[in-house]
Amino acid sequence: MLRPALFLDRDGVVIKETGSYVWQKSKAILEPDLQRFLFAMQNFFSIIVVITNQGGVAKHLYSKRQVEYLHEDLMERAEVAFHPFEVHWYFCPHHPSVGACFCRKPDNLHFQRSIYTHGIDPHTSVMIGDQVRDMIPARRMGMYTLLISESKIDDPSVNLSVTSLSEAQIHLQQRLAFDFGSQLT
Ligand SMILES: [Zn+2]
Repeated sequence: MLRPALFLDRDGVVIKETGSYVWQKSKAILEPDLQRFLFAMQNFFSIIVVITNQGGVAKHLYSKRQVEYLHEDLMERAEVAFHPFEVHWYFCPHHPSVGACFCRKPDNLHFQRSIYTHGIDPHTSVMIGDQVRDMIPARRMGMYTLLISESKIDDPSVNLSVTSLSEAQIHLQQRLAFDFGSQLT
């Protein structure tokens, strides 16, 4: 039986967007609404997939191991929030200035890989990100997409534009309570 999953972008959803690469634990600040959001999502999902572009690896700003250390640290810090879920992290270490790949969003290799590896049903899954490039691969796979943005973005890849994780929570609670188990889009 395929499962619905909650797909999250990292910077801007799990941790605060700083506008630059984050690999140091001290610079990675958890989104204050994350815990409340994930607590509400426990009713609907048992699996979380975080997919993030980490082009700083290709630029030699930090290593793959440093990215993994940070993700392990975030898992510890957000333990209460992540605890009920099976959580999988995927990152693209490449950057177009250094070389091409198929895993950097908006490409969808990590989406495909996670869906097949973890038995996920994309049509009952949700993606939350703060850039249109997070929405494109998710929509291509058939997910329902929520873009967190200060201004409303009209884009064919965006199902709904919201201003915060709390607004995403209110919307999803209503929508999933009504539609749970059925195709969202
Ligand atoms: Zn890549």
